[in-house]
Order: sequence, then structure tokens, then C-alpha cells
Amino acid sequence: MLKLSNKEKQILSYLITNCEIYQLNENESLKYIKEKFRQSISRRTYYNYKSYIYKDHDKNSPYFGLLRFHSSKKRSKDLASISLMSHRERIIQDGLINGNISRDEFSRLDDHILSLKKMHEKAGSLIKECGKALVKMNSKRQIADRNSKSIPRNATIRKEYIKCGKEFCIRCEHGPYYYAYWRDEKNGKLKKKYIGRNDQSEKETVFQQ
Ligand SMILES: [Zn+2]
Repeated sequence: MLKLSNKEKQILSYLITNCEIYQLNENESLKYIKEKFRQSISRRTYYNYKSYIYKDHDKNSPYFGLLRFHSSKKRSKDLASISLMSHRERIIQDGLINGNISRDEFSRLDDHILSLKKMHEKAGSLIKECGKALVKMNSKRQIADRNSKSIPRNATIRKEYIKCGKEFCIRCEHGPYYYAYWRDEKNGKLKKKYIGRNDQSEKETVFQQ
């Protein structure tokens, strides 16, 4: 890892958030960072920061669940872009207050060729997609709710996270996946049943009996 000052770290977070908002691929991102950051960073550093951005996203934002859920799907990258714009605003605020980074510096770092105009043009289809995504999330929740009703009352509910094993996965660990564990009344064997997963920030109350 590079040895970076706090200010440099904030700048790098800002740049990599921009890469995500503008939907740049790995090569484009590294090129953009090299130009604006005035030094090259390794792929490892790039993915570390990228992963941090997705993990650090404000869990209270209504877009948080959508971001984690959709950043993996190509057609929904636009939704992730929109969510990340609010994340970027927080980086700017933090940079202005704590990082000694001026507004001018932020505008220098932004790439105006990759303007937000592109995003605004897509606004209509985005709203439609957002609606569809919410329906999907709701139906997932209903399935989980139904599953949770079909398990014995004395079952223990456990959250489990899974590492997918990819070299650079920005969403690891995955989950939580909810499982119910209980002992069979007749033979005492341990039973396990999958209930569902939660794509959003944890809402354990859903499963409280
Ligand atoms: Zn993973």
C-alpha cells in the first residue's frame, strides 16, 4: 500500500467515487487517477478504496440497499451512480471541513468531460428502474417473511456471511444470509433451514418472533 497523508486519502476516495459515478472500468479509472492524482496507484489500492466506498456508504440512505444490490448488475449501474452522488457530497463536505481541501481543488479533480449531463439524460428510465427494483426487493422480503413463519418457534436464527473467493470483490462478504437452526423433536438431530437474505442494511426486527 502507498503511504498517503489524510488529505491524499480523501482525494483518492473522491477520485475513485467519481470513477464509479461515471462508470469507468478498471483501465479508465487507473488512467483518470494517474492524471488527477499525479501518481499511479496499484490495482490493489484501487480495489481497496473501491471496496471501502461501497462498504462505507451511508446505511441510512434510502439508496443504500439498492447500491449494494445493483452495483453488481450491469443494467443497474446507473442506480449505483445516483446513490454514489450523495456519498460524494459527504466526501466533499468532509474534505472542506477536515481535510483542508478547497472547492477549487475539488473542481480540478472532477472531470468535466465526463459530465453529469449523461446521467440527467437518463433520468426517466432511472425512475422506472428504481420502481422495478423496489418491487423486487419487496418480494424478496415477503419470501423471507414466509420462510421465517414455517420454522419452529424455538429455532435460533443466525446471520451468515459468505466470501465468494474472487480476487477483487468489492462486495465481500456477501449477505447476511439468514438461517434457522433447531433440534428435531424426535431424533435430536440439528436441522438447518435457509430463510432468506437481506440486501439492505440489517433489519433484524423482521425476523424477531
Ligand atoms: Zn465477493
